[in-house]
Amino acid sequence: MLTDLQVAIFGGDARQLEVIRKLAEQGANLVLVGFDQLDHGFTGASKLDIGEVDFSKLDVIILPVNGSGPNGEIETIFSNKRIVLTAEHLKRTPQHCHVYSGITNSYLNKIVSQSGKGHTQLFDRDDVAIYNSIPTVEGTIMMVIQNTDTTIHNSNTVVLGFGRVGMSVARAFDALGANVKVGARKPEHLARISEMGFIPFHLDHLQKEVTNTDVCINTIPFQIVTSDVISKMPTQTLIIDLASKPGGTDFKYAEKRGIKALLAPGLPGIVAPKTAGQILGNVLSQLIGEQMSTRKGKV
Ligand code: NAP
Repeated sequence: MLTDLQVAIFGGDARQLEVIRKLAEQGANLVLVGFDQLDHGFTGASKLDIGEVDFSKLDVIILPVNGSGPNGEIETIFSNKRIVLTAEHLKRTPQHCHVYSGITNSYLNKIVSQSGKGHTQLFDRDDVAIYNSIPTVEGTIMMVIQNTDTTIHNSNTVVLGFGRVGMSVARAFDALGANVKVGARKPEHLARISEMGFIPFHLDHLQKEVTNTDVCINTIPFQIVTSDVISKMPTQTLIIDLASKPGGTDFKYAEKRGIKALLAPGLPGIVAPKTAGQILGNVLSQLIGEQMSTRKGKV
């Protein structure tokens, strides 16, 4: 149980509602910032403007999945008010206060380090990334179906990257009957791709591997689907880029060539916000519980 803990939850999307639900169930005292348009009331939770928050009492701060905007703006679908988190806010929190976000950026890193507070990026954790790959794959399948007039079955599908998302994507498209090729650079990845029954290729040979591609799914957060690669693809190829913004595709060149290329960020929050929120809520409740036990042990 998280009784007696003061947790501030800032904005976000529908995933945050599951986080609120989970922490409220655990008995935490919740301060909700950026939720003034949310009708639902949660036991033990009060909705405040950022100016009304007593930061000196907070044990935990939970930010939206994307952390903040480049200048500290907190995105929220539950309010039209502008919310900006600053280093001054964080400096007012107690020394043990810990900040959680899905991912981070240079602004957030800067203000957290200026305030000397701990910060956990949830999507850095393998468990979160692997669970999260499930709704990501379902969203990818949805996008491919919506943007093609052929079946996934029998399609020539190229997956780039064999990390947590790439592996799940390759497995699901294979199960749907696609001819799946996976591009990676590490020998152990190429070996595992082969062991799992997909066709492996080294990324050095990407240009020659895409000449008969129907669907190309990129998971590599690096410019990999370059103009040279796109120029070798058939014009009916669909590129779905799952890598975090700005993706790994030369979108301008794809458009010039008449190839449909879509950057598809945040699919879990779009196709399965409840599941995606439960994944975050479960891990947050565990991490905050551990943080609380460690602190009690030190006292
Ligand atoms: P991951 O486990 O770190 O996998 C990344 C893959 O990219 C690995 O195979 C890695 O290979 C490869 N890679 C990285 N840099 C490379 C480079 N310079 N050249 C060649 N290969 C490179 O990450 P993940 O969890 O699968 O996530 C992949 C991306 O999808 C991330 O950008 C993540 O933010 C994003 N994502 C998007 C959604 C969505 O809804 N669109 C959902 C979840 C995640 P090595 O091991 O050889 O480095």
